[in-house]
Amino acid sequence: TKYVYTWGNGKADGNGSMKALLGGKGANLAEMTKIGLPVPPGFTVTTEVCTYFYANKKTYPSSLQAQMEAGVKNMEKIMGCKFGDAKGMPLLVAVRSGARDSMPGMMDTILNLGLNDQTVLSLVAATQNERFAWDCYRRFIQMYGDVVLGVQKSEGEDHEPFEVVIEGYKHEKYHKDIVDSDLTADDQKELVKRFKALVKERTGKGFPNDPWEQLRGAAGAVFSSWMNDRAIVYRRKYNIPAEWGTAVNVQAMVYGNTGETSGSGVAFTRNPANGVNEFYGEFLVNAQGEDVVAGVRTPEPVALMKKAMPKPFAELMKVRQILEKHFKDVQDVEFTVQEGKLFMLQTRNGKRTAAAALKFSMDMVKEGLIDWKTAVLRNPADQLDQLLAPIFDLAEVKKAKELAKGLPAGPGAASGKIYLNADRAAAAAEKGEKVLLVRNETSPEDLRGMIAAEGILTAKGGVSSHAALVARQMGKVCICGAAAIEIDYDKKTVKVAGETFKEGDYLSIDGTSGTVYGGELKTAPSEIITGIVDGDKAAKKTEKFKSFLKLMEWCEQATKMSVRTNADTPEQTRIAVAFGAVGIGLTRTEHMFFEGDRIDAMREMILATTLEARKAALAKLLPYQREDFTGIFKTLKGLPATIRLLDPPLHEFLPHTKEQQLDLSKKIGVPVEKIIQRVHDLHEFNPMLGHRGCRLGIAYPEITEMQARAIFEAAADVAKKKIAVKPEVMIPLVGFGKEFELQAAIVHAVAKEVMAEKKITFEYQVGTMIEVPRGALTADEIAKGAEFFSFGTNDLTQTALGISRDDMGAFLMPYIESEVFSKNPFATLDATGVGQLMQTAVTKGRSTRPNIKLGICGEHGGDPDSVKFCHTLGLNYVSCSPYRVPVARLAAAQAAI
Ligand code: PEP
Ligand code: MG
Repeated sequence: TKYVYTWGNGKADGNGSMKALLGGKGANLAEMTKIGLPVPPGFTVTTEVCTYFYANKKTYPSSLQAQMEAGVKNMEKIMGCKFGDAKGMPLLVAVRSGARDSMPGMMDTILNLGLNDQTVLSLVAATQNERFAWDCYRRFIQMYGDVVLGVQKSEGEDHEPFEVVIEGYKHEKYHKDIVDSDLTADDQKELVKRFKALVKERTGKGFPNDPWEQLRGAAGAVFSSWMNDRAIVYRRKYNIPAEWGTAVNVQAMVYGNTGETSGSGVAFTRNPANGVNEFYGEFLVNAQGEDVVAGVRTPEPVALMKKAMPKPFAELMKVRQILEKHFKDVQDVEFTVQEGKLFMLQTRNGKRTAAAALKFSMDMVKEGLIDWKTAVLRNPADQLDQLLAPIFDLAEVKKAKELAKGLPAGPGAASGKIYLNADRAAAAAEKGEKVLLVRNETSPEDLRGMIAAEGILTAKGGVSSHAALVARQMGKVCICGAAAIEIDYDKKTVKVAGETFKEGDYLSIDGTSGTVYGGELKTAPSEIITGIVDGDKAAKKTEKFKSFLKLMEWCEQATKMSVRTNADTPEQTRIAVAFGAVGIGLTRTEHMFFEGDRIDAMREMILATTLEARKAALAKLLPYQREDFTGIFKTLKGLPATIRLLDPPLHEFLPHTKEQQLDLSKKIGVPVEKIIQRVHDLHEFNPMLGHRGCRLGIAYPEITEMQARAIFEAAADVAKKKIAVKPEVMIPLVGFGKEFELQAAIVHAVAKEVMAEKKITFEYQVGTMIEVPRGALTADEIAKGAEFFSFGTNDLTQTALGISRDDMGAFLMPYIESEVFSKNPFATLDATGVGQLMQTAVTKGRSTRPNIKLGICGEHGGDPDSVKFCHTLGLNYVSCSPYRVPVARLAAAQAAI
């Protein structure tokens, strides 16, 4: 088996399409080499070796060593120097991980590998640069010691042990803080000595001198890091399967730290925060790549490189164009300049905010780089809600005190209580607090805290620092490098602009402008929301708004499924229709009784013990319902409305406290003892599996009768005003054909009566929800009478899994952590299990009624993955909450492309 793929000098074994085998980084290094870009030579050890490694007790295939030796030979030939050479210029290598999808900051990098006490001297001799050579060696021992040998901060230690040694040495020798670049060659030599002593002390073994031993150790560390906690947390968040494994890339070193004509940088071919077509990134003179991303030294904007290094900069601009033309997407690159010569070290599709994704996609269609369908695919459906994210209320901003400025790294507005440590931030968020995570810089250890926070604020680091990358990807509001804030981790305070904030105090951050404000600022909705929902004229003129409309137009062209909404009021309906919903997929009629004194009539109805008493209460409810339906029909102007008959979990409506019971007793004139008795009688051990859904209508047909009457009277009234109406009456929780028949008979009878009374005809349908397994399994029976099915996947998930939708919080996390669930099945459809029931219902339903209309109205209707699954089932529509409508439209379109 071929385990090693080489590249260099315009030739490569692999190419950009081989990401599964070579990882993203390795595949793209091969591709860049092939299209003639200046890439230092190297080789990739494939992800198959990672699989082998874990399947065989962390050992390697026997042929690997020979293949790696051939890979090193190839590098030596191209570079004209030898690995481990103690005489001439030694070949040094960088070892990096490279999974299929990039996992920023999750895996570790080792630079300058191949140095030892002999080769460092030949490096001095070959470069005539003593400081440089010893700086490389010192960095190598530090990185290797940390990542491979595990010399790391242990419990109770506040700082990394290598940093402690450096700081100690600086103070001992210079009696003050100096920056690393001010250390002399002799300082570096001394540090190398002390670092080696530290390694010996901590590991009980000397630092490995043999370059091949170093290389094998580094490769092992990369493979091992695939299973470290940070990587596992990250994979879980982004649903990356553990089986993918990582590749290892070994690449000839080029040096950005040889002096003033060298440097390292990272950049995006366009601005990943707002999408503007400008080269965007950062650069550090006389530095290795790690210095730029680590956020330790604050780098310069890459535009300044034009002045400092005009030639390599011009070359970089050419590379920018070539890359975008070739990959047809915005690239995120790493590069190094060694003595005036440019080298490309990495390219990948750049992570971007939703706003940037939208602008990139629109611009690239105009530029002819991509077509409109590709543009639709370029907007991640699960990120789209970022575009709808709130901004600060302008009036509030005027009043607020501006405390500091930083780099705008993740757009949007967030305010919250500050926490200076990830664990405390996560704990506070768990208690329901809105949290801002404030750090000097963030590292992958902070991931939990970042996930929990509304926003992230750092004092150091640039727009490509860990904090910025991760925040953008998660759609978090983020400001980086707000240098004016002074963080004291021990005292848990943040000092800025003469004020001191303690943990738990409020700050607000605007990640679009980079401004930090004191206190809690109110947020305001985005232009898209104000444009669509309020019809705001200024908002409608913005580029963002217009692009959004264009995207939705393209979605319309591509999609097969339509999108409806779950709406219980005319206002919700109006918003959803403005977002492009083509009807209502679910009106929960019981929700209409939560308002005002309607609940009293509802309670009276539930508590009634005789038919007469119940009919009297129902008579009070009828006008409310009719009025609601009238409003909804008018708003829909002929779009269909699926209205579900009452499905109350009864306990939600009952008065449980003594006060409520007394109050109700007065209002409805029933003695309080009677009310208490009835509440007691109605108590259910498991209300979700109790007297709800159609079971209510079967026990008390007069309820169904009243509701059907309210729906049809409203329909008749609206139809008389020459507004088209399309009521679809939906029977909930049906598991038996007979249940449906009994209820549908009532509905049809009432429809006939109302049409006769009102002397008008209108079309209507009667259908059912499929939300218990028996309903799905006997869908052919049910479809005899039902004109449509709507999957109630909340209950279908609950009943298929036997997991209470209301009580699963207690074990959701352990279930996700132990990978029983890859995702919360109440958020993303369990396609494997629940999906089978749906498939059965679709097939059986169609066998009886080929044209049966099929939809979904559980919460999954607004979840992109679930929407895509519904497309494969061939549903006619999905229905979701009003603000999720654009997300569902995008997901539905993408599924169809
Ligand atoms: C469902 O069960 O999926 C559904 C839409 O109904 P409800 O959430 O009201 O039970
Ligand atoms: Mg339900």
